[in-house]
Amino acid sequence: MQGTRQTRILATLGPVSDTEETIGALLDAGTNVFRLNMSHAKHDWVRSVAGHIRAAAAARGCVPGIVMDLQGPAIRTGDLPAPVQLEKGDRFDFTVDPTAEGERCVSVNYPDFLNDIEEGATILVDSGLIRMRVLRLTDTVAECEVQVGGELGNRRHINLPGTKVNLPALTEKDRADVAVGLELDVDYFALSFVRAAADVALLQELVAAHPRPPKVIAKVEDQHAVQHIDTIIDQADAIMVARGDLGVECPFEDLPILQREIVRACQAVGKPVIVATHMLESMCQEPMPTRAEVTDVANAVFEQADAIMLSGETSVGKFPNRCVRAMDRIARRMEREPAARFHELASLTNDRQKLAKAAVNMADDLDAQAIVVFTRVGRLVPEVAWMRPCRAPILALCLNDEVARSLALHRGVRPVVLPWGDTEASDVVDRALKNLVEQNLLKQGDTVVIVSSRSAVEEIADSVQMAKVS
Ligand code: PEP
Repeated sequence: MQGTRQTRILATLGPVSDTEETIGALLDAGTNVFRLNMSHAKHDWVRSVAGHIRAAAAARGCVPGIVMDLQGPAIRTGDLPAPVQLEKGDRFDFTVDPTAEGERCVSVNYPDFLNDIEEGATILVDSGLIRMRVLRLTDTVAECEVQVGGELGNRRHINLPGTKVNLPALTEKDRADVAVGLELDVDYFALSFVRAAADVALLQELVAAHPRPPKVIAKVEDQHAVQHIDTIIDQADAIMVARGDLGVECPFEDLPILQREIVRACQAVGKPVIVATHMLESMCQEPMPTRAEVTDVANAVFEQADAIMLSGETSVGKFPNRCVRAMDRIARRMEREPAARFHELASLTNDRQKLAKAAVNMADDLDAQAIVVFTRVGRLVPEVAWMRPCRAPILALCLNDEVARSLALHRGVRPVVLPWGDTEASDVVDRALKNLVEQNLLKQGDTVVIVSSRSAVEEIADSVQMAKVS
């Protein structure tokens, strides 16, 4: 286990990576969690891909997590008879009438569009490639002037920076997608365009009755989320810095600062955080990352984000496995350097957190080969991950796949399914260590720190111990 990677890698699946074989190759390259993007995915596809993930994982004895990423209240343009070339200074109209036609007009999929925007507002289309300013609002159209031109195609994403959109946090489509996610027992739902903590709570309530409710990741991708970041972090189970939309909705020079502040705020309270989008974008076409991309990935690793994410790179790109391997290389290298250690800002509020901190300090001081955590429901493991061990991987011994998968996103955690709960308490630890040696996760002579809580192993309640593997 020497030289394992702490930073987790999320890979988005798509047409170039949706078979059992290609998913297996992504696992072999180092993927820890798969993302299914519901802005593009159909339900039949999701069902078949979830089956492939489980089959590829079972064949390898690993337990990757699955994130279902919900589209949320996204606004899109409608269909056009043909793409329109827009030049600076052109006039162009947006309408809410889906039947409206004309060369200089396109419909939007949101009936309240004209009520929510104001004259003077900015409309960004297609990830900000096209920029317009609203000159005049009538009952039927928003008349705009093109400020930055480009080619407008069908169903392009619209951003309205600074405009408060009254779309519900969960659309009908999201609710239908959630039902499929629950049927497939996904581990996380990512909620797009979260504007306030109440949006996250709504999804958490929707899934609460499920026997194993998936956790909710709040995607921070506009100015409203940034304004309410502390309460959103409090409410969510994890956060995604969704830099694609965030970089359109906010001035781009603010993006590195926002990323750092969000990552820091998450680590101050122990919430897992994912840095996402355009990390290795050029590798959609090229076999090598640019120097700037290498530095960007390295920066997220320096910040000790729990996970870094690939989107188009692994879903539609030419080199999905190379992208995962490139992230793996950069992360391993960077993890040998001093890191930001934002978690040191945290004020610990309960005994479990203090136990986790003691365990991590001990592992760092001993230069231990692993921290072994016995867990029934997965509660103690995130606390240990939060304390950011320098080198030791966290071997999370889980009684079942479900708990193991739910931990796959946390920095440094290697979930291992091991039915330790059935054994006699007195030799639980010995037997577990023996099993980990058999799985090549430990070797004789290794120093390990063992963490267990009262809810995990009754007889060694709330303990941190050191052991030599024999
Ligand atoms: C993003 O905007 O960075 C993001 C992850 O969201 P999506 O890919 O759904 O646009």
